Amino acid sequence: MHVLITGGAGFIGSHLAELHLARGDKVHVVDDLSTGSLDNVGPFLAEPNFRFDEADMLVWPQLERAAAWADRIYHLAAVVGVYRVLAEPTKVLAVNIAACERLLRAVHCSGWKPQVVLASSSEVYGHNEEDILEETQDLVVSTRVGTRWNYSVSKIADEALGLSYARRFGIPTVVSRFFNTVGPRQSGRYGMVIPRFVEQAVRGEPITVFGSGEQTRSFCDVRDTVVALDALAAHADTDGLVVNVGNDREISMNALAELVRQRAGSQSEIVHVPYKQAYGEDFEDIRRRRPSLARLRGLTGFQHRFTLERTID
Ligand code: NAD
Repeated sequence: MHVLITGGAGFIGSHLAELHLARGDKVHVVDDLSTGSLDNVGPFLAEPNFRFDEADMLVWPQLERAAAWADRIYHLAAVVGVYRVLAEPTKVLAVNIAACERLLRAVHCSGWKPQVVLASSSEVYGHNEEDILEETQDLVVSTRVGTRWNYSVSKIADEALGLSYARRFGIPTVVSRFFNTVGPRQSGRYGMVIPRFVEQAVRGEPITVFGSGEQTRSFCDVRDTVVALDALAAHADTDGLVVNVGNDREISMNALAELVRQRAGSQSEIVHVPYKQAYGEDFEDIRRRRPSLARLRGLTGFQHRFTLERTID
């Protein structure tokens, strides 16, 4: 199989590349290395089945040819991370929406119908704090708009574009809403919580919990995420669907800090930092976020292999 991965030198994309190369597939990655890194794909560069192009996919002239070559496309390239989103709110909209549109147009113009997997995000649920978040919930217009909402809006737009191209031109497309994904190669530079906690615990520095720490998240190991994405792409009945991809074990940031400290055998103290100090602006965090996985499991029979403890270790 020929697999094109946009943003494939990033955290999740590099694990997808690894999965497909291990299976003997040919993998083509395009990435501008804005948040991704050559180190993430370094081990694959010598492999004959791997091709890497460092390029901004907004202006990459070979996009159409690459799309025509592919049997499957994972579109992951995006401006990500709370710090970048707060620093460059307009760029988030411009890059994330335009990159997705350009890719879908390239697929359509190629006249070929590869399986497309679009990376959306649990951020589209906004401040919806239901016990469990189902794909059928309406994405209401947020009443708590902030800079961060731009990222959510860019992903909502990508979903709409993907499903519209799918319906209009019959391109097999599945939209996957990733919940917090963690694991090897994730960088803490852009605001990801677990790499930051682990680094602080290992260095014996204070573990900084933003806000009260009572907010909860559900973390999925990236090695589980990529298996789920592959299963969704391979399944015939996923076309035109939106599917949550994550883990439904919920943990508060206070409990997470404690867990990281224990697993690292660290003496670090756990301190609370107001959002304003952490992000430089008032920031209303989402209180809880936990996915319904009924659709993912029903379609693919997917089961997790990694516990949070194993991921942290
Ligand atoms: P990442 O930053 O590691 O990966 C994104 C990649 O896209 C990077 O390698 C970056 O260099 C590349 N990129 C950005 N703009 C580009 C452009 N114009 N042209 C080419 N490449 C470009 O982040 P990730 O965590 O691996 O995220 C992958 C996807 O999953 C993103 O679309 C993100 O929105 C989505 N997502 C991730 C999470 C998570 O918890 N990690 C949660 C929800 C959604």
